Amino acid sequence: MPPGELEEFQKLWDADAPRRCHETNSELPAGTPLGQHFCSPEHAHAGKQIFCTSVTKRTVVNGEEIVDRCNGKVAYRSACLVCTSCGQGSNVAKIVTQTQERAADTELGKSLKRSAESLRIANNVWGKFDSQTDPNYVPAWTKRKRL
Ligand SMILES: [Zn+2]
Ligand SMILES: [Zn+2]
Repeated sequence: MPPGELEEFQKLWDADAPRRCHETNSELPAGTPLGQHFCSPEHAHAGKQIFCTSVTKRTVVNGEEIVDRCNGKVAYRSACLVCTSCGQGSNVAKIVTQTQERAADTELGKSLKRSAESLRIANNVWGKFDSQTDPNYVPAWTKRKRL
């Protein structure tokens, strides 16, 4: 049963039934906002090819502006989208990595972690990235082990 339907079905019986990641069908952590169907950005992007749309060059030819875009491959670093070609996002990934490694468990540390987290989200959501759905993609939960 697809995770979305399983979720609906369980909700009929138990309003507190856990919601499930649409990629792996694992339970979403309590407090996952409604409308969010994945446990991690990696899973939300599974089945999609992400590429970089940052502008590498602008040229004007006969009064028309021609914009070249990076189109580089994008990978995850500390759950941040980072372009492997132009490096877009790598500064954010660096901040997030350093904060995770060094921020102490104090009020200051926690607030540093929160701000690194919002940088990460801003980078992933509003950064110059675009994605294309892979038509041949099969979500992980459908891959059953053969007994
Ligand atoms: Zn997941
Ligand atoms: Zn790029």
